[in-house]
Amino acid sequence: MSLNLEQHKLLGLEYWAKHWYRHSLWFDHYSRLLQKTATFSPQALEAFQNQRLKQLVHEVYRDIPYYRDLFVALKLKPEAIQSAADLSKLPYLTKALVVANFDKLISQKKRNFLCKIAKTSGTNGSPARFIRSFHSINFENAAVWRQWKLRTMPGKRRITLRGEVVVPMSQSEPPFWRFNPANQELLMCGFHLNDKTAEAYLQKIMAFQPQILSSYPSNAYALAKYFRYHKINYQFDAVFTSSETLPPGVKHFIEDTFQTRTYDWYGQAERVAAICHCKQGTYHIQEDYSLVELAPTMGPNFEVVGTHFFNTVMPLIRYKTGDLVKLDPEQSCDCGSHFRTVAFIDGRACDFILTPEGYQISAANHIFHGVENILEGQLYQEDTACLVIKVVVGSGFTEQNRLELIKNARENTSEHMRIVVKVVDYIQRAPNGKFQSIVSQLPVFDDAAEAFAAIV
Ligand SMILES: [Zn+2]
Repeated sequence: MSLNLEQHKLLGLEYWAKHWYRHSLWFDHYSRLLQKTATFSPQALEAFQNQRLKQLVHEVYRDIPYYRDLFVALKLKPEAIQSAADLSKLPYLTKALVVANFDKLISQKKRNFLCKIAKTSGTNGSPARFIRSFHSINFENAAVWRQWKLRTMPGKRRITLRGEVVVPMSQSEPPFWRFNPANQELLMCGFHLNDKTAEAYLQKIMAFQPQILSSYPSNAYALAKYFRYHKINYQFDAVFTSSETLPPGVKHFIEDTFQTRTYDWYGQAERVAAICHCKQGTYHIQEDYSLVELAPTMGPNFEVVGTHFFNTVMPLIRYKTGDLVKLDPEQSCDCGSHFRTVAFIDGRACDFILTPEGYQISAANHIFHGVENILEGQLYQEDTACLVIKVVVGSGFTEQNRLELIKNARENTSEHMRIVVKVVDYIQRAPNGKFQSIVSQLPVFDDAAEAFAAIV
C-alpha cells in the first residue's frame, strides 16, 4: 500500500489518536491489575483464573448466541465450568468455526463504536475477522508494557523497525522513517532496509541515539548485520522482538552485536495467548492474560490453545492457534514468576518475499485482501525476479480476481517482479502440519546466523 504525502501528514494525527485510544484509563486499570497478578502464588493465580473463567462463562451463556446454543446442545449449564479442568467439557474452537459463526460469536449488547475489527491472514482458508473490544485493546497494551517495563523507563528513546509501511514503497531516497511524537519513537520502515540504504539508516540511528530497539527478528537481524559490516559499535539497552519466530542463532547474533538482551513476545491476532521472555530470558506463558492449554500433537511439540479473559464482545473459548511450543524440561525460572515456562515457540512463519530492490516483505496478507473466490493462497519464491501466487480457488474465480491479485502483489512488493498466479488443487503443509503463507527457497537468515549459532 502506497501512501501519498497528504496521507502521511494525516498519519501524524493518527499517531496521537492511536496513543490516546490505547492509553485510556482502562490501560492504567489493567496495568495496576497486571502488576499485582505478576507476583501471584500458584494458588492465587489458580483462584484468579477460575474466577475470570466463571465470569466469562456466565457472560457468554447470557450474551453470545453461539455459546448459548453450544451449552444447550451439550446439556450444560454455566455452573458446570468452575475451573480450567472443566474446560474439556467444551469442544475446541477453530478459525473455520469462527468464520462460519462470526455473527453468532458477537455480543450485540456490548459491541459499540470503540470496538475494532482485526483480520487474520486470508491465506489459510477464508480470512477470519475478530472484534476487539476497547477493554481488550487497552488490556493488550498493558500486558505488552508490563514486559517493556523490564527494561524500559518512560522517556527512553526507541526505534521501531518492522515490516510495516512507514513511507511509500515507491520512495527510493531517504528518509525511510518518521518520528511518532505520541510515543516518542522513531518509526523506521523495515521494507526499505537493504545494502543501498543501510548507511542512511545507520547514520540516522547514530544521530537519534536510541536506547531501545523494537523490531521483527528478521529486521533486527538485518540491522545487526549492517552494523557489523560497517564496523560500528552500538549498544542498545534492550531489543524487543515480536511477530516472527526468533531462532536461537539469530537471538545470539542480535545480542552479541548490540551488547544487550533480546526480549521476545509471542501473541496472535486472536489474542488468546501471550508468551514472552522475562528478565532472565525465559519464555513464560502469561497466565493472567488468558487461560492457556497445551494440547498434545502428533509430534513432540504442543499446540497453544487459549481462552481469553478480557474481551467480552467476542470471547473465544478453547481457540486452537495452530502455533506450537516445545516444553521446558526445567519447568522453572528464578525470576520469581510462577507462570509456566516453555523452551521454544515454533510455528510462526518468518519467511519473507525478497524483491529485486532487496526489500523484505513479510506481511503477505495485503495481497489477498479484498480478492474474492480465493479459498487458500500462498506466496512462493525461488528467485527475486519472480513471485508465484499459488491459489486454491472457488467456482466463481474470474480473470478479474486474477488481475486483482497481480495488482495487489505489485503494490505490496515491487513493480519490477514478474507475478505469476498459479491455480492449484491443494497447498502443501509444512512438515509440522502448519499452513505457511509464504514459502521462500531463498535463505531467511543467511549463513551468518547459522555460523554464529554454531559457535555460541
Ligand atoms: Zn522467568
